[in-house]
Amino acid sequence: MSGIVIIGGGQAGVQLADSLRNEGYQGSIDLFADESHLPYQRPPLSKDFMSDDDSAMPLPLRAGTFFTERTVQFHPGTRILTVDRAQCTVTASDGRTVPYTSLVFATGARNREMTIPGTDLNGIHYLRTLDDAKALQSAMAATTRVVVVGAGFIGLEFAASARQRGLDVTVLEFAPRPMARVLSPSMSAYFTEAHTGNGINLRLGEGVSSFTEKDGKITGAVGTGGIEYPADLVVIGVGVLPNTELAEQAGLEVNNGIVVDSCLRTADPHIFALGDCSNYPNIHTRSRLRLESVQNAIDQARALAKTLTGKPTPYENLPWFWSQQGSIKLQIAGIIGADDETLVRGEPDTGKFSVYCFADGQLTGVESVNSPAEHMAARRILELGLGLTPEQVTDASFDLKGFSKQLPSRSDKKEHLEQPAAAL
Ligand code: FAD
Repeated sequence: MSGIVIIGGGQAGVQLADSLRNEGYQGSIDLFADESHLPYQRPPLSKDFMSDDDSAMPLPLRAGTFFTERTVQFHPGTRILTVDRAQCTVTASDGRTVPYTSLVFATGARNREMTIPGTDLNGIHYLRTLDDAKALQSAMAATTRVVVVGAGFIGLEFAASARQRGLDVTVLEFAPRPMARVLSPSMSAYFTEAHTGNGINLRLGEGVSSFTEKDGKITGAVGTGGIEYPADLVVIGVGVLPNTELAEQAGLEVNNGIVVDSCLRTADPHIFALGDCSNYPNIHTRSRLRLESVQNAIDQARALAKTLTGKPTPYENLPWFWSQQGSIKLQIAGIIGADDETLVRGEPDTGKFSVYCFADGQLTGVESVNSPAEHMAARRILELGLGLTPEQVTDASFDLKGFSKQLPSRSDKKEHLEQPAAAL
């Protein structure tokens, strides 16, 4: 008998299995995971898992009893190799062929690998999986000098953790500012100062051109400016690629992720995609996005569970994200455009402040540092489209939390929800 087959045992796949049962789905659920561990949380891998002592344990996404309690056929260490859309079956690496009525790609993403000379040297690491993190953690015990390639979230989280362990850390970033793809220039500037002040040698506008070695072991990284930075450990964090090859082989449309509509459906009515691997129309930005966040994976899974149980539900949640870099907790809500106007509320010097971003007078996103209560208020304002103005943001006496508690007016709600995302 066929039921729902989920490919990928990460945040999105596991949440979907759980949410399907919450929605009352009683058919079979087969969850295939090519990693052999009990599904675990990735965020701590670049944070506590790195800064703490070697006894740090991975945090499971669900208890070990979850799969039996929820009657989910969990297939760890088993990769789906092919999809036969005509027969509605998948074949797995353990040789079995499994039929489906609905197939869900929750295949996530993998590290983008560098191709310059020396990337296969002993001492060069990437960080995506628990196995990567364990290898890195044990390598750090015998390390004094680290070079991190890429000042994105994972590179900087790792760099801050390594610094907390007292290591000498250099970060090479090709772009002129850290986390440039997602943060406002003001927030990037704050992090540049904070990490530099914490003793990290942050080299902006400088990529890596090659690695040096002795007896097959890394000894340094040569920057594009020609300087050699000595290192006995290198971590490469230059972004990820969505795992879309299987979908592509099955003839599904792929364009920076598996292309889905607002209900996370591909053009094949039996096939869906969510989480890091999916490219969906975002109602808030009115553009197609592929997001890499826990919130996105969880909320898409909850919406898709409704759709798969006969209640078609467009995915409309506001994107949000967090990062912990040493003592700095960063929270981001919304999607910030490269040309947005930015207004700072609070005092960056105190280590607690927010940056409010506006496009055409409309609030598009809020970034907060060590200000969780203000951030939650700002997120609610964004979610409900409450029409906060730049003047209110810059008025230090304005009661932002009180403002966030108001009920949305009819017109706020209407304007907020009537955007043509489904047509994208
Ligand atoms: P994944 O977690 O990648 O899971 C997909 C799984 O599918 C993988 O195990 C993959 O191996 C498997 N798979 C792929 N193909 C197949 C196949 N053919 N057969 C079987 N299995 C397959 N997000 C935040 O919001 N905040 C953070 O602070 C944060 N920190 C992070 C730190 C690190 C180190 C990393 C790596 C990520 C972090 N993220 C963070 C991102 C977040 O973890 C991801 O967005 C989230 O895990 C995406 O979930 P997913 O299920 O879509 O993909």
